[in-house]
Amino acid sequence: MSNLRHNLNENNNAKNDKNNEIIQNNNIYISQQALNFAVEQHLPPLYIKCTLKLVDHHKGKEIIKDKNGDLLCFAKNIELFVHLCDVNNYPKTLAQIDILPIRPKHLPSQHSLILKFVPNYITLEDIQNEINLKINTLFNMEEMNGSNTGKSRHIRIEIKSSTECDKLLSNGGLTIDDHIIELNEFLASPQLLFCSKCNDSGHVRKHCNLQYDACRRCGEDKSTGNHNECNICCHRCKQNHLATDYKCQFIIGYRRALLQTLKQKPHLLPPNVKLFIPSECRDDGDKSNKIVSKISTKNITAYNDKYNGQVKHLPFNINSHSWPSLGKHQSNTIDLTTDDGLWKEIKNNQNEIEKLKEEFNNKIQQCHNRYDDNIKKIKSILSIVSSQTKYQNENVTRCYSILNKFIPLLSATLILFQKLTENYNEQNKMNDNSNETHQLIQYISSSIVYMKERNDALITSQKSLHNLSDQQGQLLLQAVNSLESNHE
Ligand SMILES: [Zn+2]
Ligand SMILES: [Zn+2]
Ligand SMILES: [Zn+2]
Repeated sequence: MSNLRHNLNENNNAKNDKNNEIIQNNNIYISQQALNFAVEQHLPPLYIKCTLKLVDHHKGKEIIKDKNGDLLCFAKNIELFVHLCDVNNYPKTLAQIDILPIRPKHLPSQHSLILKFVPNYITLEDIQNEINLKINTLFNMEEMNGSNTGKSRHIRIEIKSSTECDKLLSNGGLTIDDHIIELNEFLASPQLLFCSKCNDSGHVRKHCNLQYDACRRCGEDKSTGNHNECNICCHRCKQNHLATDYKCQFIIGYRRALLQTLKQKPHLLPPNVKLFIPSECRDDGDKSNKIVSKISTKNITAYNDKYNGQVKHLPFNINSHSWPSLGKHQSNTIDLTTDDGLWKEIKNNQNEIEKLKEEFNNKIQQCHNRYDDNIKKIKSILSIVSSQTKYQNENVTRCYSILNKFIPLLSATLILFQKLTENYNEQNKMNDNSNETHQLIQYISSSIVYMKERNDALITSQKSLHNLSDQQGQLLLQAVNSLESNHE
């Protein structure tokens, strides 16, 4: 009957979830919901004892409180959870109520390591001393349940700083009393989704087809009879365990199917998550004991994008968060009697802002106008300078050309004069003042040579002046052009 109920349930779920991706694995259906649940971070709640119990709904509404009036808090991510595991990170009071945070027993698996096969003669204290030599943030260490063989046992160590956790892990092991102890990462087992109505795995209450809430002990309807003392008998296998016990052959089978599906779909795992595969769920000959996420921390953004805003892991920074100050409720309420005055004040302020805005715009407009004027002035000055330079250059050129014509003329005249003097000298050879005439001719000759030299120098300087004035004109033209383009 129970087996029948179980099978019926699974088949119905398959129909219910037909829009979801259903994977058939050894005839066991694994819903997408169960896969998602298996890889999610399930951080335990954090308890905070309150000396004055929270009974006032007004004060407690922003935080969840349990039946005893204490606080029950849930951290959204591992970093925040680890931060809140340190009692020193809490304020002494919250909303004028003294609080006493309860230190959680364990850190999440990402902050845990396993020391394997530690000989029983090495005490926890020995190990603690050795570890404290290497790191500063050891949170907890304890023997793992059921790992003691009489000679050795596994020990779980939990470290607050993930950097220190990585550092210790990269060493690969610890040496105590010349004994090398293997150090490994602690792998979390995948979480099984249990229905709180029928206690079967793979679906939630909302999708359950059972008509009543079943007892985890006896499997019967909880609403009838006393179920505190009822006979423990699994409704699936009829063995002496609770319906949600991982010992159950059906649960083991389901877990194996779930893990095999996850192994085929490691992309479902959030970044840097590793899941443990218990030996009973491994295939024969498969030594690998873990499923590792294919997404590295570098690809977190891509992962988050893929999940369309359902952010599963974001780097968390405690500095960007502060404790809520719940005592400030009163300041948010506005006294109704001052409403009119308040509105008037707001209106006045708004008018003032409008006025200032207008003034500001006027000022900007004035600045623009002044800028335009200045640009125009500079432009006209430049063009005047430009035309003046042009005129100036023309004048200089004219002077040069006059000089150019005048000097050869003068030198030709002098040559003629020289010849005349010579002729005159021939005719009056017997004249006494021939010596004087000779000196005169000599003087005229040197004047002619000197004038030729001057003429050459004049031509050279004229050329360089011409080049300079050309360059000047081009620069002025550029200045005018750039002003015009700036203005546009
Ligand atoms: Zn159910
Ligand atoms: Zn019962
Ligand atoms: Zn069972």
